[in-house]
Amino acid sequence: MNMLVTHNDYNYLLKDITILKGVGKKTLELLKKKKIRTLFDVLWNLPYEFIDRSNFVEIKKLEIGKICTIKVKVIKYNFPRKRNLPNKIICEDLSGKINIVFFNSREGYIRKILPLNKDVIISGKINYYKNKYQITNPKYVIPIEKENLFEKITAKYSLTEGITENIYKKIIDQILKNIPNLDEWHNAEILKKNKFEDWKTSILKLHDPTKKQTFNSTHYRRLAYDEIFAHLLVLSQIRKKIKKMEKNQKVFKNLFYEKIKKNFNFNLTNNQELIIREINKDFSSKYKMFRVLQGDVGSGKTIISLIVASNVIESGYQVAFMAPTEILANQHFELAKKIFNGLKINFELLTGKTENVKKKKILNDLKINEIKLIFGTHALFQKKTEFKNLGLIVIDEQHKFGVKQRMELSKKGGKNCDVLLMSATPIPRTLMLTVFGDMDVSRLLEKPSNRKDVITLSKPESKIHEIINYIKKEIKNKNQIFWVCPLIEESSKLDYEAAKIKYIYLNKLFPKNVGLIHGALNKEEKEEVLIKFLKKEILILVSTTVIEVGVDFPNANIIVIENSNKFGLSQLHQLRGRVGRGNKQGICILLFKKNLSENAKKRLKILKSTNNGFKISEEDMKLRGFGDLLGYKQSGIKDFKLADPIHHEDLFLFAEKNIKKLELNNENLKKFEPLLKLYDRANIIEEIGN
Ligand code: ADP
Ligand code: MG
Repeated sequence: MNMLVTHNDYNYLLKDITILKGVGKKTLELLKKKKIRTLFDVLWNLPYEFIDRSNFVEIKKLEIGKICTIKVKVIKYNFPRKRNLPNKIICEDLSGKINIVFFNSREGYIRKILPLNKDVIISGKINYYKNKYQITNPKYVIPIEKENLFEKITAKYSLTEGITENIYKKIIDQILKNIPNLDEWHNAEILKKNKFEDWKTSILKLHDPTKKQTFNSTHYRRLAYDEIFAHLLVLSQIRKKIKKMEKNQKVFKNLFYEKIKKNFNFNLTNNQELIIREINKDFSSKYKMFRVLQGDVGSGKTIISLIVASNVIESGYQVAFMAPTEILANQHFELAKKIFNGLKINFELLTGKTENVKKKKILNDLKINEIKLIFGTHALFQKKTEFKNLGLIVIDEQHKFGVKQRMELSKKGGKNCDVLLMSATPIPRTLMLTVFGDMDVSRLLEKPSNRKDVITLSKPESKIHEIINYIKKEIKNKNQIFWVCPLIEESSKLDYEAAKIKYIYLNKLFPKNVGLIHGALNKEEKEEVLIKFLKKEILILVSTTVIEVGVDFPNANIIVIENSNKFGLSQLHQLRGRVGRGNKQGICILLFKKNLSENAKKRLKILKSTNNGFKISEEDMKLRGFGDLLGYKQSGIKDFKLADPIHHEDLFLFAEKNIKKLELNNENLKKFEPLLKLYDRANIIEEIGN
């Protein structure tokens, strides 16, 4: 087999593990469960523990339950002639005696590995039985003269059922023995600056039990950098491709905008104005816009999107506006009615509820450019909606679209279609690069000046009666309250139970004033409850985990969150953003059970101290790791093998800088091909094509 290996070819690493000796289809199938298929995949299944057998322990100092190594003399055999009784060998050192016990081992074998009166090294887990130390079926029994050959530190890997340690060892040992020498893809100065060694050396160190493994080990950082670099380089290439996609320039004079200004009773913030100019510039450019507008909840993204949409319409194009839910699409539609009042813009709402006759007319009017702006859910695009002349797609509250989906969307939109995504999920800067590295980003950091910060309090659940009294007063003033129930082990059934109990409890106190919304309801049932709440037919809304994102309930000013320490900080912040959107002061009450952990206390404190979503997400990431951040589980960034946006922030920024430099100098990127192929990033570029 080894003859097949050319030792400088990365392709070897991309072969299935079945090319290894003693590894068959069955093993491959089992390891696929751990997402291991190729030799390369195996390299990232890191040991979770190293067992150190290098220190000899005196018998009298043995610790029960621990794996220990002893150097002893064999002094007595006990081979019972009865079946089912184990063979027992007594050994000693200067400090005491120990029994070595064998089940199912033959006498001859034992005599061979443990010769009488000879010194041996034995390693295994220490038990205590009938007042004596004992090792049962020891894995390591080594004659004293072979001490040097014995593998003193061994790695333990997390395996999957059906894969024994022995099989796995065969796999990893063969791979490590044959790691190819790859040509270096990074420039010498980059290696020097970070003291990076070559790829192969770093990999070997990663699996070397005698080396310390931390995020900060140089070899670890080198390999993390490869990964980050590959990821960001691909995104940057995609972005370059997008930037070359030509379109017809849009021509407009802000005619509608001047009129729109009179239709709302506030001034735009400087930040909003700036972003509008940025987007307008993209419209006028001869390349397609691909932009994400990021802004905290309630920062006023919708108005921006409607204003810029009016320019697209002025220039003769149509706009499609997509929201994640029908109720939100409906709200945007209602807002448009206000904003576009008195303007000659024909716009419509298309949802699952639209009657057939009307739907037909809308679809037809879109086809002939009679309707200029259409609101709907993401389904707008799944269906065969035809536009005469689509110039802009706006997608609200989206953060679950991957790179590929975004590209597909842009293609579907047609040649002259710009794309604007809007997201309220604040993302720390390093994540911004990994999630939206292929797009231009506008960040809306300034909040409308009339916006009061939500006041955040925390209370132990034992004081619930105080909250009930408070709610009584608020209800008298016709104020509205969200009551969010705890996450219970991510089981929607249990969530539902808890919410139902709370609903019954509150409904007794406030009859006919309480509604319940939970995951087991279908879309229509959910919307029915939400609309009742919007219309103030009910004043308290009990809900499980997530209240529909983005929906504006201007009259709701109180949110109670039970068992608040079960939520992530960013999630709490999003929930809190549901209130205080109108003129009334928003109040967020975080309930917790007694005995908060230190970490939980810290988190509640952060939340109370700031209303800045970006700051909160940075802190959240520090406390919980990036994978838990709202919504990002779906976006694939957890796919990093070693890289971590918290620990390796500097490497992300370093990679970004170096990629810019490469591109500026027009360097040939061919040498990165092995890197991109290995890290499975190359085919994204190919798939996206031209
Ligand atoms: P989000 O960014 O969460 O989508 P919205 O666009 O729903 O926020 O805006 C929240 C509320 O703030 C809306 O009622 C909107 O009319 C209002 N708003 C937007 N911009 C301003 C501003 N500059 N001054 C005052 N209120 C504003
Ligand atoms: Mg919004």
